[in-house]
Amino acid sequence: MEFKGKKALITGAGKGIGRAVAISLAKEGVDLGLVSRTESDLQELAIFIQDSYGTKVSFATADISNREDVEAAYAKLKADLGFIDILINNAGVASFGTVTDMPPAEWERIIQINLFGTYYMTYAVLPDMIAQNSGTIINVASTAGERGFATGSAYCASKFAVMGFTESVLQEVRKHNIRVTALTPSTVNTNLAVSAGLKIGDEDHMMQPEDVAELAMATLRLPERVFIKSAGIWTTNPQ
Ligand code: NAP
Repeated sequence: MEFKGKKALITGAGKGIGRAVAISLAKEGVDLGLVSRTESDLQELAIFIQDSYGTKVSFATADISNREDVEAAYAKLKADLGFIDILINNAGVASFGTVTDMPPAEWERIIQINLFGTYYMTYAVLPDMIAQNSGTIINVASTAGERGFATGSAYCASKFAVMGFTESVLQEVRKHNIRVTALTPSTVNTNLAVSAGLKIGDEDHMMQPEDVAELAMATLRLPERVFIKSAGIWTTNPQ
């Protein structure tokens, strides 16, 4: 894919992996639409990117678990940027507890953000990609979308669902030249991992958000006639 002049919409762009992907895309000359709930994060990132790389940046605050928020955010970003070539469904949350200990409201919140948020944004953006007969969607899933573990029922269910959603959508839209990829990182050194109590260990050895951004860029960089269906990335030697 030729990056220059393309436009990308990134959910969860305010922190962690989404922020790193935004910066990697801006370095390649991609104009950006940034989405998350915290306006100050988006404002700070927009200024940093415009000052550092000079690409166009627009942002919209939205809770992706709310379909009206998602529709409004997409309408604003589309009005500001035009056709969105690349959608990065990255926003997500994690918390852990046994299926009996976790309050139902928390279980539902994780599914609502990680699964329904991904679905709502895809539902908003995909018709324009189909009409344009091009586009790329990257869904940030997790190793938790490939294997279950004790205390992970909500998070794993949400990420297994994102994997199934990704594969079904790709089967629907590849005939429209639209590429759909799931990324499945293991633990990454971000606020999400720290606040969910995941083991980070020695930061010099630990996977960083920039490493996942490299993987996203590598999948995007492929010729548009091909795509990676899913790609895992792991820390080599966690300490
Ligand atoms: P992070 O540093 O906590 O960043 C998450 C971003 O998503 C933030 O900008 C957050 O901003 C946004 N967000 C969360 N809920 C949202 C909502 N309801 N609506 C809109 N934006 C929302 O987390 P991260 O580690 O980069 O996670 C990014 C993705 O990677 C997630 O899907 C996560 O499941 C996945 N992942 C993470 C790891 C890991 O170990 N870190 C491993 C595998 C996969 P606001 O709170 O301001 O909205």
